Amino acid sequence: MIQDADEIVRDAAVHANICIVGGGPAGITLAMTLAKTGKSVLLIESGGLAPSNEAQALNAGEVVDETLHSPADKYRPRCLGGATSIWGGRCVPFDPIDFEQRPWIDHSGWPIGYDDVERYYPAANALCEAGEYEYDARVATPGGMRPVLRGFTPRHFDVNGIERFSCPTDFGRRYQTRLRAAANVRVLLRATATRLRASRDGSRIDGLDVRNSRDVGFSVTAEQFVLAMGGIETPRLMLTSDDVHAGGIGNANDLVGRFYMCHIAGTIGTLRVNGPSDSIWHGYDVAADGTYCRRRFSLRPDVQAGFGLGNAVFRLHHPRIADPGHRTGPLSAIYLAQRFISYEYAKRLVSHTPPTAGTWLRHGLNAATDPFSTIRFLVHWLRYRTLAERKFPSVIIRPRANLFSLDFNAEQVPNPDSRIGLAGTRDRFGNRRVRIDWRYAAQDVETVARSFDLLRDDLAEQAIGRLTLAPDEADIEAVVRRDGAYGGHHIGTARMGASAASGVVDRDCKVFGVNNLYVAGSAMFPTSSQANPTLTIVATALRLADHLGGVATRAPCVGAAEQPEPATVL
Ligand SMILES: Cc1cc2nc3c(=O)[nH]c(=O)nc-3n(C[C@H](O)[C@H](O)[C@H](O)COP(=O)(O)OP(=O)(O)OC[C@H]3O[C@@H](n4cnc5c(N)ncnc54)[C@H](O)[C@@H]3O)c2cc1C
Repeated sequence: MIQDADEIVRDAAVHANICIVGGGPAGITLAMTLAKTGKSVLLIESGGLAPSNEAQALNAGEVVDETLHSPADKYRPRCLGGATSIWGGRCVPFDPIDFEQRPWIDHSGWPIGYDDVERYYPAANALCEAGEYEYDARVATPGGMRPVLRGFTPRHFDVNGIERFSCPTDFGRRYQTRLRAAANVRVLLRATATRLRASRDGSRIDGLDVRNSRDVGFSVTAEQFVLAMGGIETPRLMLTSDDVHAGGIGNANDLVGRFYMCHIAGTIGTLRVNGPSDSIWHGYDVAADGTYCRRRFSLRPDVQAGFGLGNAVFRLHHPRIADPGHRTGPLSAIYLAQRFISYEYAKRLVSHTPPTAGTWLRHGLNAATDPFSTIRFLVHWLRYRTLAERKFPSVIIRPRANLFSLDFNAEQVPNPDSRIGLAGTRDRFGNRRVRIDWRYAAQDVETVARSFDLLRDDLAEQAIGRLTLAPDEADIEAVVRRDGAYGGHHIGTARMGASAASGVVDRDCKVFGVNNLYVAGSAMFPTSSQANPTLTIVATALRLADHLGGVATRAPCVGAAEQPEPATVL
């Protein structure tokens, strides 16, 4: 059942076995999976079926450095489906090394291993509609995928890892029918959780205060609560709920909101390839099931260890759109159309230095002198992106000047000084807004700089091509600052740890010291990997559902040390 919370009367009490707060992919995955257990499940979602200004305003907050991080209400649609209503759909599993305690990265290491999550990836892949769970280019498509650069066998990178693309599936739209049909699932839309009520001794959550869009309050009781509100709102609610736990629930060791990670990502360098144009393939291959797949260059784990770096990948990419020097009509047409592209996607197109009249003119000339490729691109985009059910994932354009750039996605190391806190201002329900203080570390810059150098050397050694940096890219830290925090990935703010000294939640995603409160989503990832987070968010939500399916109706345990046994429900 899906219901509007505005139908609920003041001070009503709503009960369920399990209450999930947040209807993004984490919350929806949990609700659909727990529906199979016969337990009653309540999903509280602050937004409606589509984004609205009213719900979105609740995400507003302070950003300490807006040159580094987007405004707080961007990249986080408040509606059923959460950020999958606008996501790009790139699916990539984490690597085994991401779970390891790496001596060269402080605060690294998960209390669970890759194997604990791996067994949930195939089902997560299916929910994300990313096709078969196969991430090896040699077997992902019939006959294997084309190489990016023919004959390139780099010393420091693996060339066989791929990313697969979801439709991209909007979890709210795709799974609405399933949620409506599940007899034991009740979804309450336009219901904003405003406070967790802890028991007097703090060991349990007795209830959750909720407001509907008319500011009518009601309360929810449940045996188990799961916070699945994304990596920014989850710590916000925990910090706000400070009646019994001074400083916020789960925050006895001042860890909630700390270690805030996004990714270090952007476009860098210019690659002139030596071989003929048919030796280069920077586009997508299509798997037998229709999924778009793409190869990348992945920094090998032993190289990460040898050089003390974080995880990183590179993709061959068209040149930076903002620089008209690419002389490519379709790229300039995109630049000229930036006003019509949503903030989240336009942000990476525009340069951080304001364009001059000359820049606009040169882009206009590019589009005018390259009309056939511009029209071809627009027709392809309309057919395979706008009108297609499974959308062509991104702009792939062969640059006219046969020059490429590199798109990089690098791990951001856990940094306790990078944090989500509470601001002095309040939202319309009287709750303190978020304060985002995102910071990167010297090691993050080093990961980008060193891995770029290694790729440059590999390309030169095998005479594949010449990779250079433009004069304004020579300072890699400036490049990292130019692109800033990668929007949409909000990680680490309620991290999993082996004990309360190092984490907010334990290996079962349960908040230390609070026996019926769990966290789902990338807030609980202790490290960020090179990989986009959603596939792992869904996999770990399936794992949590497996755990909760067995414990929700048991008598609550008393001591923080007591751990219920997980039970398989999948
Ligand atoms: C433009 C963009 C592109 C992206 N591309 C990719 C990609 O290619 N690959 C990838 O892996 N990831 C991508 N992401 C990230 C991906 O969308 C997120 O990782 C994912 O949606 C997070 O899922 P979640 O369920 O944890 O949180 P969210 O999707 O953020 O959902 C949280 C939900 O909680 C609700 N909520 C918040 N506060 C409250 C409250 N107080 N009470 C009740 N409900 C509340 C919100 O309304 C929201 O619906 C992208 C994101 C953006 C914005």
